[in-house]
Amino acid sequence: MNGPLKRIDLKVAFGCNNMCVFCVQGKKREKHQPKPLAQLRGELKRGYEDGGRELVLTGGEPTLHGEFLRVVREAKKIGYRNIQIQSNGRMFRYPEFCRAAAAAGATEASPALHGSRAEIHDYLTGAAGSFKETVTGIMNLKKAGFRVITNTVVTKPNTQDLPAIAALLAKLGVDQFQFAFVHILGSAAANAKWLVPKKTVIEPFVKHGLDIGLAAGLRVMTEAIPYCFMGGYEEYVAETIIPRTKIFDAGTVIEDFGKYRLNEGKAKGPKCPSCAFFGRCEGPWREYPELFGWGEFVPCRPAAPAAAPKRRKRGG
Ligand code: SF4
Repeated sequence: MNGPLKRIDLKVAFGCNNMCVFCVQGKKREKHQPKPLAQLRGELKRGYEDGGRELVLTGGEPTLHGEFLRVVREAKKIGYRNIQIQSNGRMFRYPEFCRAAAAAGATEASPALHGSRAEIHDYLTGAAGSFKETVTGIMNLKKAGFRVITNTVVTKPNTQDLPAIAALLAKLGVDQFQFAFVHILGSAAANAKWLVPKKTVIEPFVKHGLDIGLAAGLRVMTEAIPYCFMGGYEEYVAETIIPRTKIFDAGTVIEDFGKYRLNEGKAKGPKCPSCAFFGRCEGPWREYPELFGWGEFVPCRPAAPAAAPKRRKRGG
């Protein structure tokens, strides 16, 4: 993504009270301690000086950082306009925590919901009771005035549940939801055989879910699902609108996540150059074709030109 830096993604802590079977962080939680407040303050300042005005506080589970609310207050004091908390949503089951986070300056929350029922969500998160806590959290966030943008990781166990997830999110009154195709890294790579669905299989369920969200007036997005699986729904491909983002990770900084995605994260197949979306498409995460090959990726045809108006016959 070109253009000036807009968003800072700050990883605050790496531990988590979920144990998601698709977690891209994998064993990072065992290797890295939560960042000390002084380091976080420094990274917030650097990000702002570099031009970042939107902030995403993430992890691991950022709300488990012992000084989380101080981090939010620091970010607001520095001048960030939009402060999003990317979370598994469980801490928001406490209404007073929601209110405190809002008072500290957080404006947006991105909780993760991976099933419409406890059996599916808790199975995927590896945490009994997490579905109930996250759903309660979403309701509390809305009551506290947050804009709520949820994320659902699309996997084999929840593919058929996507329309029901969309219906539940509409009922909960979220502002936006996103379906993100599982990225085969960390725990997801270890579980790939039973976890990763084929993109041709998820396509109808994704579209059905999007339809439900759109009918309810929600903003909807998808991630890591290329255009060749999104026929008729191309405008919901998130990669085209993700702002330029810098990531402060554990011991490393990714200056431009868009460039990183293109150069190191994603890949295109042998037939892609003939696709109508070749210039706009990032392709899938590169681990996907390593698992399933390129057979499903059928290049899109250019849209048919509008029919020319018929000429009237002379004298007609
Ligand atoms: S460029 Fe390749 S991956 Fe992207 S939409 Fe076209 S065929 Fe699919």
